Amino acid sequence: MTTKSPMTKFTLKNLNQMFPDDVSCLEYIRFKKFPERIDCPECKKNALFHKVTNRKTYACDYCGYQISPTADTIFHKSPTPLTTWFYVIYLMAQTRGGISAKQIQRETGVTYKCAWRMCKEIRSMLFEDNNDKLDGQVELESRILVARKPVVVVVEPMEKRLSLE
Ligand SMILES: [Zn+2]
Repeated sequence: MTTKSPMTKFTLKNLNQMFPDDVSCLEYIRFKKFPERIDCPECKKNALFHKVTNRKTYACDYCGYQISPTADTIFHKSPTPLTTWFYVIYLMAQTRGGISAKQIQRETGVTYKCAWRMCKEIRSMLFEDNNDKLDGQVELESRILVARKPVVVVVEPMEKRLSLE
């Protein structure tokens, strides 16, 4: 291996360890979008928000007002599990977008239509707005982009997030 980089390669094993289920994916998106405490839009208190069981939302500890971390992201209203999304993002990052919808369908078991849509969404998120960044030897493997404009977040290396758990 001559292409040593400052960041460790983010492997599929890392992905599975870090995101074993949808809740862990959602947690991740949540922390990327919101700080630990948020000024609640409803009761105006600086509140902690807790995960609502069986929903992709978090509720204000004081008034119960719910926020959705997936709003304004490519995951919004998608019935596809977040773990599948993350896996496809991983695949696309690994191949620098060179994976087809057909391959995604085979890898994940989603329908072709769904695979095609994911492919399109992720491609635009990963590549279109970030051409400069992606031209060089960008460590895409170690990043996952969770949101699209206006809340684009190029996530720092996964290792950092791990230490926050
Ligand atoms: Zn509140």
